Amino acid sequence: MSEQGFRIFEVEKDLIKANEELAKKIQKIFHEKNIKTFDVVGAIGAGKTAILETLVERLKQKYRLGLVTADVTTQIDADRIRRHGVKCTQINTGRECALTASLLQDVLNQIPLDEIDVLFVENVGNLICPADFIVGSDKRIVVVSITEGEHVVIKHPMLFKMSDIAVINKIDLQNVMDVYPQKMVKDALEINPSLKVVLTSAKTGEGIDELIKTLEL
Ligand code: MG
Repeated sequence: MSEQGFRIFEVEKDLIKANEELAKKIQKIFHEKNIKTFDVVGAIGAGKTAILETLVERLKQKYRLGLVTADVTTQIDADRIRRHGVKCTQINTGRECALTASLLQDVLNQIPLDEIDVLFVENVGNLICPADFIVGSDKRIVVVSITEGEHVVIKHPMLFKMSDIAVINKIDLQNVMDVYPQKMVKDALEINPSLKVVLTSAKTGEGIDELIKTLEL
């Protein structure tokens, strides 16, 4: 590695470490408030928001829910969540391709921490950047979809290593796309044998009950 390359590598390592330390502090706050937290990662269009909408619909009577959605510039996801009568805080990350613990800390005072039992945090739509940055949640959910093709898992191993639950969404499209989830499941479990894999269709509702069980909610 060149000297400059080495310096960039060292700076990145420091950033990741500082993020990790802040994420631990944030997690401690959530634990003190007895809040169960999940962060959701995956590409644009995988169905992260759609999955969250189905979860919100089924869980909002049982728990007091809080949501944070992160996006580079828009409010679209927060508006979709708010339609279900649940509070949602939007973070715009600007040039950042992942939500960081520091960006989450900036909006902590906008989240009613004393009035929620469960918090879902939707990360920026990206399959690469969020792998390095944890945000202090108890469990990380990675969402991929049939429409991303059968190699999507094996091409993004880091995100599957860093996650606790993998959701393979849009299974209603498997015949149309001629893409089947079996290889994705096998790849995911080879990368991370302790991963829990759930097949879903946010559109038809298939697999959502199993996902809720897997989240222990
Ligand atoms: Mg979204």
